[in-house]
Amino acid sequence: MPDSALSLLRDVFGHAAFRGEQEAIVHHVADGGDALVLMPTGGGKSLCYQLPALLREGTAIVVSPLIALMQDQVDALRQLGVRATFLNSTQSAQEAADVEQALLAGDIDLLYVAPERLLTPRFLSLLDRARIALFAIDEAHCVSQWGHDFRPEYRQLTVLHERWPAVPRIALTATADAPTQREIAERLQLEDARHFVSSFDRPNIRYMVEAKDGGLRQLMDVIARHRGASGIVYCMSRRKVEATAESLREHGIDALPYHAGLDAETRAEHQRRFLREDGVVMVATIAFGMGIDKPDVRFVAHTDLPKSMEGYYQETGRAGRDGEPSEAWLGFGMGDAVLLQRMIESSDASDERKRVERRKLDALLGYCESTACRRQSLLAYFGEQYPQPCGNCDNCLSPTASIDGTEIARKALSCVYRTGQRFGAGHVIDVLRGSDNARVHQFGHHALSTYGIGRDLDARQWRSVFRQLLAAGLLESDLDGYGSLRLGASSGPVLRGETTLSLRMEPPRKAVRRERSNRTDASIPAALTDEAQRRFEALRAWRGDSARSQNIPAYVIFHDATLREIALHAPADINALAGINGVGAAKLERYGEALLEVLSSSN
Ligand code: ADP
Ligand code: ZN
Repeated sequence: MPDSALSLLRDVFGHAAFRGEQEAIVHHVADGGDALVLMPTGGGKSLCYQLPALLREGTAIVVSPLIALMQDQVDALRQLGVRATFLNSTQSAQEAADVEQALLAGDIDLLYVAPERLLTPRFLSLLDRARIALFAIDEAHCVSQWGHDFRPEYRQLTVLHERWPAVPRIALTATADAPTQREIAERLQLEDARHFVSSFDRPNIRYMVEAKDGGLRQLMDVIARHRGASGIVYCMSRRKVEATAESLREHGIDALPYHAGLDAETRAEHQRRFLREDGVVMVATIAFGMGIDKPDVRFVAHTDLPKSMEGYYQETGRAGRDGEPSEAWLGFGMGDAVLLQRMIESSDASDERKRVERRKLDALLGYCESTACRRQSLLAYFGEQYPQPCGNCDNCLSPTASIDGTEIARKALSCVYRTGQRFGAGHVIDVLRGSDNARVHQFGHHALSTYGIGRDLDARQWRSVFRQLLAAGLLESDLDGYGSLRLGASSGPVLRGETTLSLRMEPPRKAVRRERSNRTDASIPAALTDEAQRRFEALRAWRGDSARSQNIPAYVIFHDATLREIALHAPADINALAGINGVGAAKLERYGEALLEVLSSSN
């Protein structure tokens, strides 16, 4: 059996080797064991049930909550020569009857079905008459009522175990937290199943966090690092989504807006273009992305703070499912922090709830201001220890000095105190830097003892200091809507000089610019020679045409990674082509000649 799993992996799926836990999971399920699989997005979960489906006799029943995705999954499997199909409400009675026929005849390897359909008495009795290889329960966290994807029907899936105790079940999710994991095991009666918990690290994602300096330039830089590729830009409000999409379009970028205020038809059209075409930048509220399975999203950019670390992980996780180098960029500013704080305090949630929200926001602000490796901080938040700094985040690539900031913090805090705890950071910074402006004079702040004591830092560095004090709870923002600052409960010891405090020190502006252009070069994925780049583009164009004529997404035909490898090696014949990762037997047969033709005509 082990050998046949590996040869199927190579021949059908075109992959050279298993990834991480895949091999153990495949063997465990193929041998009839139950499994609970926790793997991050892009980790390769589908293979964990698709391969056992082919190894075991009968049809694998795949429970999947998202009808919209079934079509793509089935298309992708058929491209590999696997007999896959689905049953859902989009089909006519005749189509459904044909599928049922094929199921009973044993002509289907994998059958995707929505939970509500599966649970009908009719379908269950149909299954009684079919040969079932295994049950796969995808997006298993839908069973948890605490998550946002709760699906009540998932609770009833225990019927599968009760009715077919001998059929192996495999439940899969990308949700990392331990309480959800326990709930899944309990609700689906998988306590005795073997649990396969992978690292939630996404090594191909480069985490970049920057203080926003206003305007579009930083976002344009991100997009320029991934020219011609697909990406998602998240904004907090609908208005900002619209404005950002429009400015990007003015700069010649194929950007589309997406938010709940657009009519359903426009949303569907924008989503369709994003999924099917190369190089669309989706500008969206976080309403967009759930259940989006596009593998080649090269960047996710947050132009406002996400709501929590959980949200950040999930949203950035939509980048790079195909394992290729990708970027998660986050721009943050004090305005965001103040706004989020105000939203928490002014909501009518319970005190308990507010406390939780406050802690989550603090964690996020702490993450932004940290000088430590982003990957280590992010994984630590989810209880996972990453052994060493990752070398693939902004703090690893260009370390920011952290200094003893006790004296600086004292200056800032006393200036907030002296000005009466009723001004925003902008004004306090003016006083610290000894500005001569009208507002300072109007309030008589030029006469304060703290006037001009902070000339050694520029305004930008001071803003960073204030954000950090806010993140550390030494300052709090008032709820008056103007972002005025007051001393936090824990500021006493710092003011009295009883504790020390280390602060991240932003480099002076010029150095940042130079640094940024270096990064640009470093983050272009696997540089191709000019010639190979030409081949790559020709291959992409061919793929686009072929996808359109079959009405399937381009990535279903070949991933970028596969095209890049083909472009790089320029295989001369079918045999050489067969050695490329991602080119299995069915695709070789189907597209081999066409690929060789594209290569020879683009040379
Ligand atoms: P998930 O469902 O966990 O997000 P997928 O099953 O969609 O992940 O797989 C993510 C990507 O990784 C897909 O493009 C898939 O083809 C690829 N992949 C999966 N397993 C392997 C492997 N063993 N070798 C190479 N690529 C793989
Ligand atoms: Zn790092």
